Amino acid sequence: MTLEIKDLYVSIEDNQILKGLNLTVNGGETHAIMGPNGTGKSTLAQICMGHPSYRVDSGDILLNGESILDKSVDERSRMGIFLAMQNPIEVPGVTNFDFVKAAMQKRLSKDEHLRIGKFILKFEKAAQDLKMGQGLAHRFLNQGFSGGEKKRNEILQMKMLNPSIAFLDEIDSGLDVDALKIVGENVTQLKSENLGLVLITHYQRLLDYITPDYVHIMINGKIVKTGKDELIKRIDQEGYDWVKKEMGIDDEDVKPFSLGTCPAKN
Ligand code: ADP
Ligand code: MG
Repeated sequence: MTLEIKDLYVSIEDNQILKGLNLTVNGGETHAIMGPNGTGKSTLAQICMGHPSYRVDSGDILLNGESILDKSVDERSRMGIFLAMQNPIEVPGVTNFDFVKAAMQKRLSKDEHLRIGKFILKFEKAAQDLKMGQGLAHRFLNQGFSGGEKKRNEILQMKMLNPSIAFLDEIDSGLDVDALKIVGENVTQLKSENLGLVLITHYQRLLDYITPDYVHIMINGKIVKTGKDELIKRIDQEGYDWVKKEMGIDDEDVKPFSLGTCPAKN
């Protein structure tokens, strides 16, 4: 499957956040997107998933050559797009188990039924692989989960739903070293020719576990530079100032409040 983002401009309320973003993700490829806070990384992931608060001003998002702009979140999910959210939402009253079961049932045609025994085995194996502990799977979705548990839970859903295009938005934030390793290894296991992976991250440490084929630097709503591993190292050591200088990006163009915000907050 191929996801193509073409010259995309996106706004939320009166703020234009994405300003001419281009990105193509093919099955089998892993793309890392790095960039300062407030630059629009989460906006990119949310708009691809169909979040209703964001508005596409111009440009297009194509899945296998067909625009998905008029598709609902639910339709996009069934088409194979997945988003592990930066801040997963708590859903009291719906257990984790029932949530994933419903999502998988919806992927079948009307006269097909989920094979529940097989489903349970797969679910418990996925929870075990992620070292999530039995009880967690049967609690209400994300309610009272620690930051790290929420992130693992996103990967549990990914393992179950088996998407074709997956955005992992700061899946590494809030994870300690051991959890990062577990998440990294589980995501790496999911890599295949049928999966196009987009990793949004601030830090090299995630990319020690999941090796990207392409590294993109996003500043002020668009991708300004694409490279490989060497970019990750340089960003880790020097931040983004050199990219801005090299690309002639004036900090005046970047909203001042977005510069000093804490990575965990945004
Ligand atoms: P990143 O993920 O790169 O840190 P985001 O995509 O989360 O950036 O945010 C991009 C910009 O959009 C930020 O300046 C943020 O403050 C702004 N933004 C996000 N949500 C809203 C909103 N609901 N209303 C107005 N501005 C918003
Ligand atoms: Mg973000």
